Amino acid sequence: MRRPLDLHHVISPGLRDLIELANTHDFDRVTEQVRNLRGCTQPVNLHGWTVTTDQTTKQVVRSYRSEDEPSGRLLTTCGNRRASRCPACSRLYAADTYHLIKTGLSGGKNVAETVRDHPRAFVTLTAPSFGPVHHRKTDTAGKTRPCRCGIHHAEDDPVLGTPLAPATYDYTGAVLWNAHAGALWARFTTYLRRALAEHLGMTQKALNTALRISFAKVAEYQKRGLVHFHAVVRFDGPDGHTTSPPPWATFDVLRAAVGMARERARLTIASDAIGERIITWGSRFKVDPITALGDGELTDARVAEYTDAKVAGYIAKYATKNAEGAGTVDRTLMCRPCAGRGYVRGPDRFHDRCTDCDGTGQADPIKALPVQQHVRQMIRTAWNLGHLPEFADLKLWKWAHMLGFRGHFSTKSRAYSTTLGALRDVRRAWRLAQAEAARARAGLPVNDENTALVTASSWAYLSSGYRPGEELLAAQVRHEIAHAQHTKSEGEPWL
Ligand SMILES: [Zn+2]
Ligand SMILES: [Zn+2]
Ligand SMILES: [Zn+2]
Repeated sequence: MRRPLDLHHVISPGLRDLIELANTHDFDRVTEQVRNLRGCTQPVNLHGWTVTTDQTTKQVVRSYRSEDEPSGRLLTTCGNRRASRCPACSRLYAADTYHLIKTGLSGGKNVAETVRDHPRAFVTLTAPSFGPVHHRKTDTAGKTRPCRCGIHHAEDDPVLGTPLAPATYDYTGAVLWNAHAGALWARFTTYLRRALAEHLGMTQKALNTALRISFAKVAEYQKRGLVHFHAVVRFDGPDGHTTSPPPWATFDVLRAAVGMARERARLTIASDAIGERIITWGSRFKVDPITALGDGELTDARVAEYTDAKVAGYIAKYATKNAEGAGTVDRTLMCRPCAGRGYVRGPDRFHDRCTDCDGTGQADPIKALPVQQHVRQMIRTAWNLGHLPEFADLKLWKWAHMLGFRGHFSTKSRAYSTTLGALRDVRRAWRLAQAEAARARAGLPVNDENTALVTASSWAYLSSGYRPGEELLAAQVRHEIAHAQHTKSEGEPWL
């Protein structure tokens, strides 16, 4: 008599699970599901159904139940924009962001192509100084000059951006600046409109009826742990991108107005504990014209110029990052069960020390984080300020790992271009069309767009991640994608 082959000692759990999957009723579908995720790191596992019925005939046109899948569940991509969490999904996010920014500059996808003739600027606004930091400067000949500490720092010296005198560095000011950076940007856009009207000697109302301004911005961390912003600013006519801006709305006018608005935009914060603070922009800022793609010859003198593609690539790259550039950790430090307070309310309504964090409120103790001293001090400062009731709305415990900044990494005004949602709709429509084509090939009835179709569905979240066997298949998918990218030299300028 033959005994069943027992491989438990010789093969990995992944292989064992793969063999199990191979023995389900439809292994091709197992592979297809994983393939559709394009290498996603943490796919979402769903359970549920979708049924589409024709209202006139009451017939079911299409139905899908996750129970019918070989593994009994539907896998969808995690959709995380951050490269540190899911390289595959963040690549897609970067691609979408690239097209979104590029469309706003060159037209296409519902945006008029004439936008490339509108005045457009690439604006960089920075934070002010909170104390001298180690730096690396080069003179016009490209030679490095010594830092104020006397050393010629190497390009990758971790000390760059950290304070020369940590004891006197204004950590409170730096963290509060990050925490208010988003609000300061909002104020800047308001003041930009006012400055334009003033510069042109018109009323705000007259300006608003003749000119529209649209923005797309991205946040980036500097080595010193402060956020700065890069933004595309575009002038449009009164009806948005389809209309030309008035002839007096030139790039030079835009540049002058940015300078005025940067100077005037400020926020005053008052606190009993730390006194009054004025939040302003730093004196270093840049306003560069964006030239259309392929304008003129690309000579040495023009290499430094900002083209549509270069700007879009730049913004897409930073849209997939959080605070990695500052060398901090990528997860919140706030203990979730007690929301950072360090205590929970017991049945007798008295405070009980939170057992998850041992009363510290921190999911990971700040003193043990694998970060540089400067970053740790930024985090510690944010955490301590989080205790002050006047800063409660800044949610500094939740955002301490972001060094206080809680804003959105990339935002744009509605008028700028197509939206990420619209790009996803296009992709969904394309996938549906693919499915319909497959049905037609299989001889199944194809949807007629004129019939009254009603779709009902019910979905529930099960878990995240792959089964061990699927993980092996996903690794193969990632390998193939990496190989294809290596072969394809052009494209993906955001990488
Ligand atoms: Zn993913
Ligand atoms: Zn130095
Ligand atoms: Zn806790």
